Amino acid sequence: MNIILLGPPGAGKGTQARFLCDERDMIQLSTGDMLREAKDSGTEMGKVVADVMARGELVTDEIVIGLIREKLGGDKKGGFIFDGFPRTLAQADALGALLAETGETLDAVIEMQVDDNALVARITARSTCGSCGEVYNDHTKPIPADGKCSNCGGTEFKRRADDNEDSLKQRLMEYYKKTSPLIGYYYAKGQLSSVDGLGEMSAVKADIAKVLDS
Ligand code: AMP
Repeated sequence: MNIILLGPPGAGKGTQARFLCDERDMIQLSTGDMLREAKDSGTEMGKVVADVMARGELVTDEIVIGLIREKLGGDKKGGFIFDGFPRTLAQADALGALLAETGETLDAVIEMQVDDNALVARITARSTCGSCGEVYNDHTKPIPADGKCSNCGGTEFKRRADDNEDSLKQRLMEYYKKTSPLIGYYYAKGQLSSVDGLGEMSAVKADIAKVLDS
């Protein structure tokens, strides 16, 4: 089963993708994670995308489609979760073509709906464990008092460089201008399901499970 998690920054796509990896043996393909990895390891491509990402703009379709193409040839396990990809209509068309080439199907597109005020509050308070990626929130799920990750015991926590109000405004603008048309695109293809992304993590998880099991 291959699925897309669609939603603005901070909708909880990464958190839900991690649940699906654990419980359904799926593979998370997050283009944001791949680009951050390229940036941190200082590859040529990483240098090109660093400024674009810091400003909260989208990197070129060519770069992200290339990243996804490489991964589709690898291990598929329980299927792919596309997280943060596609983000433009051109990327959506390219994904359709890549899946067709490899004989794969797109089984569900799940839109995670959240209101913008909640997004800003979530993102500016978010940090993750440097070892396992567990997500924390200063208000609703603070880092444990002993300074150890509740999932893996790691002691290093990171905040994303682009999780600040200026970048976030730009990221939201990019979402509404370039990514939100995908909601209509997948609706018209009969592939869209929507879940309320504002509830408790476990409630959102249950709603997603309902979609996938139906
Ligand atoms: P994310 O971790 O998904 O929030 O992505 C972080 C940043 O990486 C975005 O703000 C973009 O600059 C870039 N990025 C991630 N995925 C894509 C994509 N599919 N298309 C273009 N840019 C992307």
